[in-house]
Amino acid sequence: MVLDYNCPMTSSPFSILFQPLRIGPVTAPNRFYQVPHCNGFGYRMPRGQAAMRAVKAEGGWGVVCTEEVEIHHTTDLSPFIEGRLWDDADIPAYALIADSIHKHGSLAGIELTYNGYDASNLYSRAAAFGPRSMSIRGGSGYEPGQTRAATKDDLNQIRKWHRAAALRARKAGFDIVYCYAAHGLSLAFHLLSRHNDRADEYGGSLENRVRFLRELIEDTKDAVGASCAIALRFAVDELLGDEGLTHDGEARQIVSMLAELPDLWDVNIANWSNDSASSRFEKQGYQEKYISFVKSLTTKPVVGVGRYTSPDAMLSVIQRGVMDFIGAARPSIADPFLPNKIKENRFEDIRECIGCNICVSGDNRMVPIRCTQNPSMGEEWRRGWHPEIIAPKKSDKEILIVGGGPAGLEAARALGQRGYRVILTESAREFGGRVHRESQLPGLSEWRRVVDWRLTQIEKLPNVFPYLGSPMSAADVLEAGPRDIILATGSAWRRDGIGRSSETRFPGSRFLQETWILTPDDLMAGKLPQGRVLIYDDDHFYMGGVLAELLAQNDCKVTLVTPAPTVSFWTQFTLEQDRIYARLLSLGVTLLPRHLIASLGPGAVTVKHAITSAESTLPADALVLVTERIPNDALYRELQPALADGRLDSLRVIGDAEAPNIIAQAVFSGHLAAREFDESINPDETPFQRERTL
Ligand code: ADP
Ligand code: SF4
Repeated sequence: MVLDYNCPMTSSPFSILFQPLRIGPVTAPNRFYQVPHCNGFGYRMPRGQAAMRAVKAEGGWGVVCTEEVEIHHTTDLSPFIEGRLWDDADIPAYALIADSIHKHGSLAGIELTYNGYDASNLYSRAAAFGPRSMSIRGGSGYEPGQTRAATKDDLNQIRKWHRAAALRARKAGFDIVYCYAAHGLSLAFHLLSRHNDRADEYGGSLENRVRFLRELIEDTKDAVGASCAIALRFAVDELLGDEGLTHDGEARQIVSMLAELPDLWDVNIANWSNDSASSRFEKQGYQEKYISFVKSLTTKPVVGVGRYTSPDAMLSVIQRGVMDFIGAARPSIADPFLPNKIKENRFEDIRECIGCNICVSGDNRMVPIRCTQNPSMGEEWRRGWHPEIIAPKKSDKEILIVGGGPAGLEAARALGQRGYRVILTESAREFGGRVHRESQLPGLSEWRRVVDWRLTQIEKLPNVFPYLGSPMSAADVLEAGPRDIILATGSAWRRDGIGRSSETRFPGSRFLQETWILTPDDLMAGKLPQGRVLIYDDDHFYMGGVLAELLAQNDCKVTLVTPAPTVSFWTQFTLEQDRIYARLLSLGVTLLPRHLIASLGPGAVTVKHAITSAESTLPADALVLVTERIPNDALYRELQPALADGRLDSLRVIGDAEAPNIIAQAVFSGHLAAREFDESINPDETPFQRERTL
């Protein structure tokens, strides 16, 4: 191992993280390794992806990888937007990505993938290949089709395609080429005895089942191994017990069988919801217990993930010999400059990932990646945003921001970074708004980082003046002095039942005492009901499920009613839905999907089936309504005359006060307001560039 004595940190304990490290024929400049991660740009928006990856390299990630890249039209992952290297015409897009990474001295990795039964082939319409004819698992997860059983000729074809794709990847300039057998997909299909019932030399014994993966690695090495490192991404546990691969069972045997074959082991756990578990369910380092054996079986470098955001934890992982590289997807999304900040001893500036998985939802909703902590994520090319740099102020204007939730805090921080003088007022005794409140709910404590990072940054800005305990009326705003006002006054949960599934208040509700009907705001303010509680979730993200958890922990008998086909419907896109379901059942919560509220009476709620309208009456001591929110925009309306008659120069409403949405959107909205301040915005123009093929 070579110590880099040019590194300013050679004397620091963290210098080990900045040592160059060989991977086969290439050398990574340090131990920060951005493992492959989906991003919603994929083949459709290569410029967006190139700019996003470039920022990671600029921020110090020594290796920066693409997401999974389809090698052939028979492994078409549509409707998801992943990478495509089907033929030579795809090379320029990947050359753009590799070049953008190389510009900053980092290595570029490409995750080639052949996804067999996980490929829905909805676009290519080809028959997908599987170890046997089996249901296609990809796409919606319930696609009505099966694979064809791959013959030996088919397997030879796949090997040929993989080899050709590796050559294309090398031509595009990639330094690390992956064989991908993780997440229960792709090349792994021959490894899994539950799917592989072949009678030929690719089925039966473990040696036989490993044969195909071994051949692919050997082919790839033969094709490009002289100049490119060959990485194997391998899931060492599927968390299925004896039903699947386990780290102390077959996966361990596979690692020892292939130990020295790849140049790098990139190891994790399957499926994706386990690999990218949210902070609600797993904490930093959660994969260590599964992956730590790998280093004992190979001399090749090992990389793994575990949502490491703490420099101490990263150091410890290397010192304890768990792995050689600190792998990261989400921490590199939340802070592309994390490595450089460690190098410069700016630990308090690290924008720590909160583990909310909004980034993951980009891939699952097939749109460019978003991040709660990093509003510039996904905006690097189309808006030209940089996570660390922002245009300096254009004037000496002073800005008053009312409301210190995520939107107001981000607007104050970013305007302060631009150099403007900012007054930030918050009526509560704590900053953070909804994040302050929600981070006290079960499992959500890491969300607090959204507030903490912004307050730390604001403290460093002498031109930002935060005031707590300062409720502002319209008169207060007009007397305060600044003529440019940003209102980030948030929203309040509705108490009348109006929401996605009901346009009118519930029959009977006007006769009920307010204390009987509660909202998330009441619960978060400590007003907890007792006895039998019915939660009505017409919001469908995390709040209904989290409140059910809170109340069940407080010994309430909870029934969670929702018009959706399943509880916390949207959390399937953040990979949390199954875990939420399991947790609620384990807490004894009764789940009643596909039900609406028909009417309310004292001590009872009548629900009706969303499709059949069959009614039943449930006794309840309290009803918690998780429906819609009402924007707190009264101040905005009251101040509009002052804008019209020139007493104010500008007035902007942002965040939940403008349009209630997820926290990521509030942060984005605050950031956008800061970037657009002093700019003339033409509402008739699309405010970002788009990628077009014609
Ligand atoms: P967002 O998600 O848009 O940031 P939040 O609801 O999290 O919205 O935060 C809004 C914040 O604004 C809350 O902390 C609230 O106390 C504060 N607030 C609302 N109205 C006023 C007001 N008139 N004066 C000062 N602070 C206010
Ligand atoms: Fe982390 Fe959430 Fe950002 Fe993803 S969206 S990187 S989980 S903070």
